[in-house]
Amino acid sequence: MTHLTRRAFGTLLGASAATLAAPGLLRAQSAGRLVIIGGGFGGASAARFARIHYPDVGVTLVEPQSSFVTCPYGNLILGGKRRLGDITHSYDGLRARGAEVIHDRATDIDPEAHRVTLAGGAVLEYDKLIVSPGIGLRWDAIEGYDDAAAEVFPHAWIGGDGSQISTLRAQLEAMPEGGVVALSIPENPFRCPPGPYERISMIAHYLKQANPTAKILAFDSKEGFAKQGLFQDAWAELYGDMIEWVPASGDGRIERVDPANKLFISEFGEEHRVDVGNVIPPQYAASIVRDTGLANESGWVPVDPHSFAAAAARDIHVIGDATIAPPMPKSGYVANSTAKTAVAAALAEVTGRPAWDAPVYFNTCYSHAGEEYGISVVAVFRPTEDGFEAVPDSGGLSPRGPLAEQARNRRLEARHADAWYDSIVKDMFS
Ligand SMILES: Cc1cc2nc3c(=O)[nH]c(=O)nc-3n(C[C@H](O)[C@H](O)[C@H](O)COP(=O)(O)OP(=O)(O)OC[C@H]3O[C@@H](n4cnc5c(N)ncnc54)[C@H](O)[C@@H]3O)c2cc1C
Repeated sequence: MTHLTRRAFGTLLGASAATLAAPGLLRAQSAGRLVIIGGGFGGASAARFARIHYPDVGVTLVEPQSSFVTCPYGNLILGGKRRLGDITHSYDGLRARGAEVIHDRATDIDPEAHRVTLAGGAVLEYDKLIVSPGIGLRWDAIEGYDDAAAEVFPHAWIGGDGSQISTLRAQLEAMPEGGVVALSIPENPFRCPPGPYERISMIAHYLKQANPTAKILAFDSKEGFAKQGLFQDAWAELYGDMIEWVPASGDGRIERVDPANKLFISEFGEEHRVDVGNVIPPQYAASIVRDTGLANESGWVPVDPHSFAAAAARDIHVIGDATIAPPMPKSGYVANSTAKTAVAAALAEVTGRPAWDAPVYFNTCYSHAGEEYGISVVAVFRPTEDGFEAVPDSGGLSPRGPLAEQARNRRLEARHADAWYDSIVKDMFS
């Protein structure tokens, strides 16, 4: 079938003649067309898996960025343990597998006509659509926090072009001796539950060497957090009193920011002057699924737990952070793992091959808390009638205990984390 309208084909020809002419693509078009929106953890994993296991299906991946900066390992840039180039990945591997990669933004989905419109004017036709666009930031949730404020108080919570994480690192380097770094951390659900606390650890790791009298104030909208005991053990052992974590009940909810005067203002009106501010705002699914009616009033997308089919439209599967899938966390590993089930379910009808009748989904979230200091949480999940559940006894947390006892485990887990990162990005981009 033709997957581009005549007008769109003309538009695209100049931009991506090379990809359209790829030999894999011509072969690929016979059994139907899978279009994927979003080339991150869910989308890139889906594209690679589809090209390997369903070679007769044509795959088109739509992603605005010409390379992908991962959020995982972004915190290690703040800790001085990685550089931007280490976490930036090219789409050439997916192209070499015969996927057509179009660098543009999807602006509309027409589920009736099975069409996706791109910002550049092209219109793509699909048999099946997978959407993995990640999160949007709720700019209205913290007064004074908008696009311009994010230049002063970066969120660094979306990989984008890497500029947010680079700005935050540069601000830490430029901070006066004994300065204050403050973080504003949202309520659940949000992308990567342990992410803010790994970030605190990596900032402390850097400051311990470069600015040891500096302080970190972590203002939290919650009463507790992922891997809390493990993180707090690490903070006490490695960073002394550098870090102060302030829960919601201790006036930790930041409701307003004033970037011009470098202020965080709490729920009860307390003004905190900060030298460096990292605002991680509340989130919802990215705009493409909210604007096209795939998300419900929560701002996230309800899906069938066996197939990730969107509740609101046929032939569309939504994966990754945009979905409602508790108790699974919004993690890159879950996006990668669920992408494979979504591809098998989406392409069952197209190819006549069976979908998976008893899928399981995997998650391991490693966090770096210091030099050679890794901790993790592991779980396996499965679908139920109307949601997901953790398989009993399928995982757990790293053991707690004094560093003198646990040093070997922490060192090993830091290495396992590195191996996890290397293997998951291969499973997305190679
Ligand atoms: C600091 C931090 C650390 C983290 N560490 C870990 C970790 O150690 N392990 C882990 O498993 N997870 C981690 N995560 C979470 C992980 O980054 C996310 O869960 C994962 O990226 C979700 O995948 P996704 O496909 O839903 O979204 P993304 O990976 O963000 O991909 C979405 C893609 O869609 C594109 N897009 C958006 N809108 C459109 C549109 N309209 N048209 C076309 N393309 C579009 C975007 O440009 C983006 O490339 C971390 C997150 C953060 C912030």
